[in-house]
Amino acid sequence: MKIGCPTEIKPQEFRVGMTPNAAQEAIAHGHEVIVQAGAGTGAGFEDADYLAAGATVIDAAEEIFATADMIVKVKEPQAAERKMLREGQVLFTYLHLAPDPAQTRDLLDSGCTAIAYETVTDNRGGLPLLAPMSEVAGRLAPQSGAWALQKANGGSGVLMGGVPGVRPANVMIVGGGVVGTAAARVAVGMGANVTVLDRSLPRLSYLDDVFMGRLTTQFSDQASLAELLPAADMIIGAVLIPGAAAPKLVRRDQLAMMKPGSVLVDVAIDQGGCFETSKPTTHAEPIYDVDGIVHYCVANMPGAVARTSTIALGNATMPFMLALADKGWKQACADDPHLLNGLNVHAGHLTYYAVGKALGIDV
Ligand code: NAD
Repeated sequence: MKIGCPTEIKPQEFRVGMTPNAAQEAIAHGHEVIVQAGAGTGAGFEDADYLAAGATVIDAAEEIFATADMIVKVKEPQAAERKMLREGQVLFTYLHLAPDPAQTRDLLDSGCTAIAYETVTDNRGGLPLLAPMSEVAGRLAPQSGAWALQKANGGSGVLMGGVPGVRPANVMIVGGGVVGTAAARVAVGMGANVTVLDRSLPRLSYLDDVFMGRLTTQFSDQASLAELLPAADMIIGAVLIPGAAAPKLVRRDQLAMMKPGSVLVDVAIDQGGCFETSKPTTHAEPIYDVDGIVHYCVANMPGAVARTSTIALGNATMPFMLALADKGWKQACADDPHLLNGLNVHAGHLTYYAVGKALGIDV
């Protein structure tokens, strides 16, 4: 099979769909890999790295879309890319179709077979191609929040780990899933005093076990949140209710209970955010102030560390990419129901129930 990897054209996207290692693996499986010139530059991979892996480097995206049997990307295809997709071609990338009727219509019209990273599942009920990005965003959250706590950024001037004789920052993490656990790991490592709130008792029990007393767990309800707000230097929002907008857990009037210059890091902003005052920001302007509280609400946090994110995503996608290439999408999906869950569009038909329901299209 000929596998094509174009340069991402969505603004501020520096990741790339295939690392040189992934290209090398695919080539070792007997496939041909064509990569657009400069596709890996943002993630620190040069054209020479792909050539050394055995791939062919091609200047024009048009040639990749015109000749590849499967396109491997990161972000959903942009309008110009969707025009180039063809009947019978496989597209393997993040799609997020439910809120995007224009993209859905174009994919249906193209006749391609589109498999979405975000709906591929695993046998523990998780989303293995979303988890690596949650790991990245979670680990970044205390790092970004620590930067926002600095005086020059409007913060209160509290150092995460304190110093001998001066208490560390109080970090409250709301949601102890993949993001929350990763955030806790880094915040604990920075020496902060960490409390994780969740509504899932098994999740709190897991955190209690693995952190062995290095953080406090607390059940998440309105009373616990209100109790912790006055002491918190940083709150990291990491909740998720699958398929729903994030619940608003801190109201605007409650900001007055917090110390001036405290920081809210809303990782759940891509689901609408879990603080009433959250609105999406970008890496170019990541923070803003509401009532003296610094808000960090970057919707694509992993983009800040494109190299780590690309490698982490590539590690997770590689086995599925190889299965699709080795067996063809039909056999690969027949053999693996988790990969089949990734199938969103085929030959002009929508094949994913939740997307159809959201967009009012028959599945
Ligand atoms: P997850 O499903 O692993 O964890 C979510 C946790 O929230 C669960 O443990 C759940 O029990 C808990 N929860 C639900 N309601 C709660 C409540 N009221 N109070 C406390 N906890 C509650 O999800 P995840 O992978 O950790 O993702 C968390 C959020 O981060 C999602 O919205 C995800 O889309 C987002 N995310 C954002 C970025 C970014 O760049 N901004 C990157 C990756 C993930």
